[in-house]
Amino acid sequence: MMNRAIIDVDGVLVDMHTKMLDIYNHENGTSMVKTDIIQWDLSPELMAIFRRKGFFINLPLMPNAKDFLYALRELCPVTIATSASNIPNIARDKLEWAHTYIPEFASDFCITERKNIFDATILLDDYERHVLNFNGSLPLLMDQPWNVTAKVLPDFRVDTLADALYKINRYIKTGLRV
Ligand SMILES: [Mg+2]
Repeated sequence: MMNRAIIDVDGVLVDMHTKMLDIYNHENGTSMVKTDIIQWDLSPELMAIFRRKGFFINLPLMPNAKDFLYALRELCPVTIATSASNIPNIARDKLEWAHTYIPEFASDFCITERKNIFDATILLDDYERHVLNFNGSLPLLMDQPWNVTAKVLPDFRVDTLADALYKINRYIKTGLRV
């Protein structure tokens, strides 16, 4: 099979949690930080912020995210896949985000709840369920406070985009997964 990489957005290319917590803290006089979010499911209060129209439009890319995508595209075809949680305004906001922040990749940007429908060998995601259900050879989990307890072997965890690129490059060049 030809290699193809599926790359997640939230928690991988984009830090949505910091903005979500900034809004929450500002509105509630609290001081929550990202490491306070230790489970995948968000509280109803945080979900309400996530659902707000326009929330996703101005989320900045993670440092080096664009360099990562360019370097990755030199190695194999790349599809960027992100969920809109079945909420139409999130789907619209995410498409607008893609056309603003990564226009070079907008035609490879896909809104879907399903990360295993692609003919792909590589996945990079911060959601353990997607990583554990992936059909391809190299499912990588991006370390985040909400996936610390995930049952994913350390060899399939990465803590930076550079680390992910290293493991993907090694797999493509040598076939070695660990
Ligand atoms: Mg994610």
